[in-house]
Amino acid sequence: MSEFDYDLFVIGAGSGGVRAARIAASHGAKVAIAEEHRYGGTCVIRGCVPKKLFVYASHYSEEFEDAEGFGWSVGERSFSWEKLMAAKDKEITRLEGLYRANLERHNVETFDTRAVVEDANTVRLLSTGQTLTAKTILVAVGASPNVDTSIPGHEHAITSNEAFHLDKLPESVLVLGGGYIAVEFAGIFNGLGSETHLMYRGETILRGFDNELRVALQEEITKKGINVITEDVVTAIVKRDDGKLEVTSKKGLTLVVDQVMYAIGRDAHTKGLGLDKAGVEMRANGEIVVDAESRSTAPSIYAVGDVTGRAALTPVAIREGHAFADSTFGGKPWTVDHSLIATAVFSQPELGTVGLSEEQALEVSPNLDIYSTRFRPMKNTLAGRDERTMMKIIVNADTDKVLGVHIMGPDAGELAQILGITLQMGATKADFDRTVAVHPTAAEELVTMREPSRRIRA
Ligand SMILES: Cc1cc2nc3c(=O)[nH]c(=O)nc-3n(C[C@H](O)[C@H](O)[C@H](O)COP(=O)(O)OP(=O)(O)OC[C@H]3O[C@@H](n4cnc5c(N)ncnc54)[C@H](O)[C@@H]3O)c2cc1C
Repeated sequence: MSEFDYDLFVIGAGSGGVRAARIAASHGAKVAIAEEHRYGGTCVIRGCVPKKLFVYASHYSEEFEDAEGFGWSVGERSFSWEKLMAAKDKEITRLEGLYRANLERHNVETFDTRAVVEDANTVRLLSTGQTLTAKTILVAVGASPNVDTSIPGHEHAITSNEAFHLDKLPESVLVLGGGYIAVEFAGIFNGLGSETHLMYRGETILRGFDNELRVALQEEITKKGINVITEDVVTAIVKRDDGKLEVTSKKGLTLVVDQVMYAIGRDAHTKGLGLDKAGVEMRANGEIVVDAESRSTAPSIYAVGDVTGRAALTPVAIREGHAFADSTFGGKPWTVDHSLIATAVFSQPELGTVGLSEEQALEVSPNLDIYSTRFRPMKNTLAGRDERTMMKIIVNADTDKVLGVHIMGPDAGELAQILGITLQMGATKADFDRTVAVHPTAAEELVTMREPSRRIRA
């Protein structure tokens, strides 16, 4: 009989934790998992899933407008935030149930409580004070949204967590930040009819993405009516007697809005977790330092997902959890390749991107051929909508290898998924050129751009 209560104790039932628990159990391990909020974690409860449902909802305003260009008469329109929230909540509850049922089906013992680490093989459940031992502990506690607590009045602001539970749609909103969550929420609020402001301290939104794509998106969201304020930060938030928030900025701007939403980044959720007691090394921002096998500096403690600061995306957390469980309990060791991750931004228009940005590609190869096009997609002609699509292919001019593809336009995320396969296979520009176009589509541009728009040479 084992000297431990469990082979594996997982802290956090989000994307990474649930996958690891389930796979480890399917390999025959005795597994328990603790969750302090709701099963499914950030992605299911207050991240990707409700966010995407809101994005779908916010698209309808333009769809109704566009329909008229195709001969439809759309009658009076109205939107009910309450109905959307109720439908969203029902779906999230359904999904949470599936996550729980899946764990139970695999005989994973579930604890609905916060758990903390006592030592390298012991966790304590806060609801009961009970301590449990495990040969291996997996920390999959994710991250939580940051608020700038140095700003007077910051307590009046919300984060994405609260945005999913507002009593009513704000008539006006200021979103702070320029990352993908900020940009997506600005699009949601704008599409649903809120007067929307987006304030970002940098010059162009979406730092880290391809520059040309960033500039193009900033232009498009501005055209759609989002007031994009760059190179500025909030200095104070005051709640007025009428309940509205008066916001002042470093550049001397004053805005009066119903809600201010912080989306300025997320920190690893490791505060008070007791990891220091077990000798787990963390970075200054709380992220757990792990090796390629997701093992921390304490040999019996592993970590996966956002808490490790590798790539804060659901499919990455899931893969890391799966690789950990196969390697530790299934006798099938493998590691996650973090180098080529296709990703989407559900902005309006949407972004899909895979591989290197032009700026990153220049660090790999001084000789690049850039194929780039911006055009009005067919649907927008009759709709009379001035929204442009952008497609950009970055090619190593020495080897012909495609290093990155970046798309702005409808279903760009869907395209990025398929392009991810081609880039994984090492596709060259000649492979793209040999591919027969699908007509009439927007994506055919990807295989019909023959001449580089720019040649960059060392
Ligand atoms: C608004 C928003 C939109 C997003 N959209 C996307 C998207 O479109 N695509 C994408 O790929 N990713 C998206 N993400 C990121 C994605 O949600 C995360 O990368 C993913 O959830 C990380 O999984 P994880 O397992 O590391 O952590 P999480 O899913 O955050 O799970 C951690 C769990 O641990 C629990 N927990 C924490 N501490 C304890 C403790 N001490 N005891 C017990 N339980 C604990 C938490 O309650 C949580 O349920 C989005 C995130 C946000 C916030």
